[in-house]
Amino acid sequence: MAPKSYMRVENVTKKFGPFTALNGVDLDVYPGEVHALLGDNGAGKSTLVKLLFRSYDVLGGTILVDEQNIANVTLKSLRESIGIVPQDTVLFNESIFENIRFGNPAAADDQVLEAIKLAHLDDFIRELPDGSDTVVGERGLKLSGGEKQRVTIARTILKRPAILVFDEATSSLDSKSERSIMEALNKISRGYTSLIIAHRLSTIVNADKIVVMDHGEIVEQGSHSELLEMGGRYSDLWIAQLR
Ligand code: ADP
Ligand code: MG
Repeated sequence: MAPKSYMRVENVTKKFGPFTALNGVDLDVYPGEVHALLGDNGAGKSTLVKLLFRSYDVLGGTILVDEQNIANVTLKSLRESIGIVPQDTVLFNESIFENIRFGNPAAADDQVLEAIKLAHLDDFIRELPDGSDTVVGERGLKLSGGEKQRVTIARTILKRPAILVFDEATSSLDSKSERSIMEALNKISRGYTSLIIAHRLSTIVNADKIVVMDHGEIVEQGSHSELLEMGGRYSDLWIAQLR
């Protein structure tokens, strides 16, 4: 089992040209906590995820993982400790099985099969003529967005990173595959330091902390009940959804 990591975002600012995508963001994700990030399109959620993974190198402020500034660690070790299920998943044109094993090339077949189960991919794979040996096609185009994301979840399960980050799928998933994805995520994130970006409120109610972003800033954070009590943005969203 991977050690539990502590992630700290300190006064992080990111600009694209004159446009400020993140403005002085502070966030603490304590070891083993699951945080859910919420916000309209363009709020800056994916930008924060990309900074964590150092897809962008330039940043104002600091991101620390286990008290180490991520700017000072090698990309290799950073990417070993953080596992990201991105918004747009890219797969290799190989079998589903090998795409998953990529998360941990040393994994035994049994472990890959276990990851397939945890990611709720087994029913889908059973219906394929070649099962998990099915080749996914150039850039995974033969699979739907939700299926690709579950392949990436299985890959991440196998990798068992100390920090798990999940960015919602762009394509509107049907509610059945969204439910499968969220069940898989809930299972694997529990007890792991995790940051989960999701639209549907029902999937994030149980997060240790819900963080609401707007125009590059954190505008509210707290547990579901704390935010309801506060009567702000989250509580408005919650009430709107109950209707
Ligand atoms: P979210 O994931 O919350 O929908 P993003 O982090 O993707 O939002 O984007 C935040 C803002 O930054 C958006 O206005 C977006 O257009 C802008 N943005 C993101 N990436 C880039 C980029 N590479 N170049 C220019 N603008 C960008
Ligand atoms: Mg996004």
